Amino acid sequence: MPKPPPPPLTIGVDIGGTHVRLLLVADDGQVVNRAHLPAIAGDPTEVVRPVSVQVNRWRGAYPHIFRLGVACAGWVDADGRRVHQSPNLGWHDVRLADLLETLCRLPVRVENDVNAALLGEHAAGAALGQRNCVAVFLGTGVGGGVITDGHLMRGAKGAAAEVGHHVLDPNGPLCTCGRHGCWEAYSGGAGMVNRAREAIAAGEKSSLASLPAVTTAEIMAAATAGDALAKRIWGEACRRSIQGMVNLAVLFDPEVMVVGGGVVAANPTLLACIKDGMDQEPPFAGLTDVHLVPAALGDDAAALGVALTTGV
Ligand SMILES: [Zn+2]
Repeated sequence: MPKPPPPPLTIGVDIGGTHVRLLLVADDGQVVNRAHLPAIAGDPTEVVRPVSVQVNRWRGAYPHIFRLGVACAGWVDADGRRVHQSPNLGWHDVRLADLLETLCRLPVRVENDVNAALLGEHAAGAALGQRNCVAVFLGTGVGGGVITDGHLMRGAKGAAAEVGHHVLDPNGPLCTCGRHGCWEAYSGGAGMVNRAREAIAAGEKSSLASLPAVTTAEIMAAATAGDALAKRIWGEACRRSIQGMVNLAVLFDPEVMVVGGGVVAANPTLLACIKDGMDQEPPFAGLTDVHLVPAALGDDAAALGVALTTGV
């Protein structure tokens, strides 16, 4: 009897500002192999060339690789072909799928990295089996994604569900997007650091003032140690996260809300703070019976997400 063919494999690539991660994944979600490459800022062809070398190396060893999914920070078009803008990578209007298809001779789909991480959590992580879920990742910024009735919301231009840029207070601090009072300006790591710097520059006393450079971790540590400015910034980050999560629950009526990202990983009390705050809200419509869960896949989420969903 002839031997059955080996199972088909997909490669998921996560191109970030500080890392390039490649996973070789079976259809059941098993990671068969993995590779890490140093991030290279600048010319997209210089970034994708080492990726294509690794992909072609794996193709020599595993003949049943049949597609490639790429997660990339920034605004990716809804067709999964082009990166309109990626401030992290310094890219504008990059035809990333075309570039990689030429170099790797495989069909390629590109996905925004946060959407990819949600797809990963939905396919094999904290939101497995749910039809309606929202993911929020609190890191340098606040990213998120929405799956509704089993489908990822991409929007007309691929720019849907920029949850970090929904305005919580139009009189709030200036955000990187040019508007005021976005969730990200309060609860993203960069926003917290900016607020600390501004208060110190305005003369507020704080233990943070003696540091050569303030980081999110130092704000959290100073808040724990009782520093008044750090407590205020961290407390506001928590309160605004409750407000943002409540808004998303009311808008999308999810079964599960997944919360992840570097800020949550560094300080898990944030998740408990959000949960307590949401529990105190009146039991209105979509807010009832929402399960708040930590992200389960860590740094693999985006690469796994594009690997498992790029053909559908
Ligand atoms: Zn904004």
